[in-house]
Amino acid sequence: MSKAKAKSDGPKCSAQVYTRIGRWGRFSPCANRGVVERDGKPYCRTHDPEAAKARREEQDAKHQAESDARAERRTREYLLDRLAVGVSTETLQALLDAGRTLAVMLREETP
Ligand SMILES: [Zn+2]
Repeated sequence: MSKAKAKSDGPKCSAQVYTRIGRWGRFSPCANRGVVERDGKPYCRTHDPEAAKARREEQDAKHQAESDARAERRTREYLLDRLAVGVSTETLQALLDAGRTLAVMLREETP
């Protein structure tokens, strides 16, 4: 038995993969060799249900962090907008400049 043949032996991955053919597609067995066993069935690294779950959870956490960051930005924009109601743009600019000047003065006073 050749080495290449030996490598292709062994259980195949239990996953079904969807292959697009033109407008439609069909499900067929994954061609990869099974390297892990879950509930008595072999799976390749790509279709290992636990690895897939970990990837999904990582993706969910990333989306949640992005969603939280967007909500935080919207809240800040809302608060800044509310803070500026009735205050002219010139006054806001003057307040910002005064704030910066004050910050510089406080830094210089700190030994
Ligand atoms: Zn597979």
